[in-house]
Amino acid sequence: CGIVGYIGKRDVAPLLLEGLQRLEYRGYDSAGIAIHASGKAGGLKTAKAKGRVRELESRLPKRFAGTTGIAHTRWATHGAPNDENAHPHTDAEGKVALVHNGIIDNAADLRARLTAEGVEFASETDTEVLAHLIGRAEAGTLEEKVREALRHIEGTYGIAVLHADFADRIVVARNGSPVVLGIGEKEMFVSSDVAALVSHTRQVVTLDDGEMATLKADDYRTYTTEGSRTTSSPETVEYAA
Ligand code: GLU
Repeated sequence: CGIVGYIGKRDVAPLLLEGLQRLEYRGYDSAGIAIHASGKAGGLKTAKAKGRVRELESRLPKRFAGTTGIAHTRWATHGAPNDENAHPHTDAEGKVALVHNGIIDNAADLRARLTAEGVEFASETDTEVLAHLIGRAEAGTLEEKVREALRHIEGTYGIAVLHADFADRIVVARNGSPVVLGIGEKEMFVSSDVAALVSHTRQVVTLDDGEMATLKADDYRTYTTEGSRTTSSPETVEYAA
């Protein structure tokens, strides 16, 4: 239902929770967040909860500091509204964290195939198949892994992806479900809805269907799901708050 993401220098959890609150008007049944934890240990940390954003907030671990993260409010289509089915979803190794808006039409087939290959699922969602496909992709870069995984997907998606081995970036993609980049000064935002961006920046890039983007703190680039670069000059949004 709602996606927000941030990469920059600021403490990411409060920013993402605020972004989710701006999307509450859309309705949702659960919420969750994943960050690249700062500090020596690093790695991905995830928290999620059925219910309101403030429920998620009360569940955040004491140590939940980082400057890169993604978050989601879910409106369930596949699987009941509960903690396990809330996004972000992760792969078996916990290296990938993914939030997804939309519906994967061939999720049942993909789940059967992955289960036959020995993958254990942690949720009932259609979304989780994509987290495993990205985690198991053989390609080298995160962009290529996402591209490889998306080749198997039939259906609609707006996604944002973190990977433990690529802590300097967020990769996003759109097919039939909106994704908008917010361009800041040495910080970048992403959302499914411009309403979550305008308190931070009015410079936005709206992805087209079949388009992906890589966000780094001081840079972004857009390309097709086949990998060819697309042009993407930011537009200035006028927005009456
Ligand atoms: N189909 C996904 C699910 O049920 C995403 C739903 C949404 O767009 O929030 O988890």
